[in-house]
Amino acid sequence: MTDRAEELRGNLEQVQERIEKACQAAGRARDEVTLVAITKTFPVSDVRALADLGITDVGENREQELKVKAPDCPDLTWHFVGQLQSKKSRSVAKYASVVHSVDRPSLVDALSKAAVAEEKSLRCLIQVSLAAYGSADAATGASRGGVEPSDVLALAAAIAGADGLEIGGVMAVAPLGSDAGDAFAGLREVASRLRSEHPGADWISAGMTGDLEAAIQHGATHVRLGRALLGTRTPLG
Ligand SMILES: *Cc1c(COP(=O)(O)O)cnc(C)c1O
Repeated sequence: MTDRAEELRGNLEQVQERIEKACQAAGRARDEVTLVAITKTFPVSDVRALADLGITDVGENREQELKVKAPDCPDLTWHFVGQLQSKKSRSVAKYASVVHSVDRPSLVDALSKAAVAEEKSLRCLIQVSLAAYGSADAATGASRGGVEPSDVLALAAAIAGADGLEIGGVMAVAPLGSDAGDAFAGLREVASRLRSEHPGADWISAGMTGDLEAAIQHGATHVRLGRALLGTRTPLG
C-alpha cells in the first residue's frame, strides 16, 4: 500500500469511528447514514484508493472535475454537490446519479431534458438555505445557496412532475457562525414536511467535516466529508 493509501485508510478509520459514535449518541443504526466522500481538488488516484478501502459514494462540486474523474471509476455512485449552471446539466446527468444542489425551476427543466437524453433517472435533492439560522455577521458573508424553506414544496412538485427526475430529499450546508444543531433541526422539519407529500423523498444530506455529529443527531442520512478523509485542500487555480 502506498503512503497515501495508508494515510487515507487511517483517516477513514477515524471518520467511521466518528460516524459510529454519533449514531450511537443519536440512538440510530449505523446503516441509516451513508458516507459520501467529497473528493474535490484531489486526484483520481485518491478516488481509486478510497474505493479500494470500501467507499462506494463519491461527490464533486464542479462539473469540470466530475467529468474527468467519474469515467475512471464508473462503479462508484457519483454525487454532484455544487452550484450548477444549467448548461452543465447534460454532463452532470451523464456522470452523476444524484444532484444535491437543485435550487431553481430552470435547473429542474435543464436536468430533466438532460436525464431524458441520457436515458437515466436522476435523484434530485433540494438545497435548502439555512441562512435564517446564521448570525447577522455571517449573513453579510458569501451566500451558501439554496432555496428558502417556504419554497421547497413548490420546487419538489416541479421535480416530481419532471421526466427523468425523482425527488429524493433535501440538502443543506450549515451557515457560518451559527449553531449547526439549530440549523439542522430546522432542516429536519423541512424534510419532514417534504416527506409527508413525497414519501420517497427521505434523504437528508447534511454534515461536513466540522459538523457531522450535529447532522447525524438531527437525522442526516448522507454526510458529505472532504477534509476529514482527504486532508486540507489547496484551492484550485
Ligand atoms: C467541500 C464540500 C463538502 C465537504 O466539506 P469538508 O468540510 O471538507 O468536509 C461538503 N459539501 C459540499 C457542498 C462541499 O462543497
